[in-house]
Amino acid sequence: MATYMYPPSMERLIAMLTKLPGVGPKTAQRLAMHLLNTREADALGLSAAIAEARATVKRCKICGNLSDEELCPVCTDPKRQQNSICVVEQPGDAIVIERTGEFHGLYHVLHGALSPMEGIGPQELNISSLLQRLKSGEVDEVIMATNTGVEGEATAMYLARLIKPLGVKVSHLAHGVPVGGDLEYTDEATLVRAFVGRQEL
Ligand code: ZN
Repeated sequence: MATYMYPPSMERLIAMLTKLPGVGPKTAQRLAMHLLNTREADALGLSAAIAEARATVKRCKICGNLSDEELCPVCTDPKRQQNSICVVEQPGDAIVIERTGEFHGLYHVLHGALSPMEGIGPQELNISSLLQRLKSGEVDEVIMATNTGVEGEATAMYLARLIKPLGVKVSHLAHGVPVGGDLEYTDEATLVRAFVGRQEL
């Protein structure tokens, strides 16, 4: 006796969707059903957008931020203050800071934070290129805007120890960013206050 199962092609789609973060089997089934029922242009548009982003988006050779070009628009903008670098964990953090309009310098994206538990050491982060940038002597201040959790704090302290001997001022966003909170979820007013009140490490 045959029992009803989803066709294999649909099962494959569900299996792929289940690999997405935060997507369990139930949500994956609902998404798969939606993709099959929605307009073809939308469903295929999604798959084309994934393919295009995968083929095009790369890390800026200077700051590590995501960019469609070799260098990102911030690094190539002569109007940005060249003497100040804000260090963030993720590209999304730089976007949040840009929204405040408070910072006019450059960024450096670590792509994570130190986490011995997860086996993430300095080698796994975009750190050596940061030190390389500081050797030019053009940078006066590095602002640590890592997340306020244990890992973000440890990362900021680790970097401060490496950077200060180079004669560069290292500062840290003032408190007000909720402890354990990701920068991404901090409201703009709080972030502006954290920038203005930043303290030297
Ligand atoms: Zn860049």
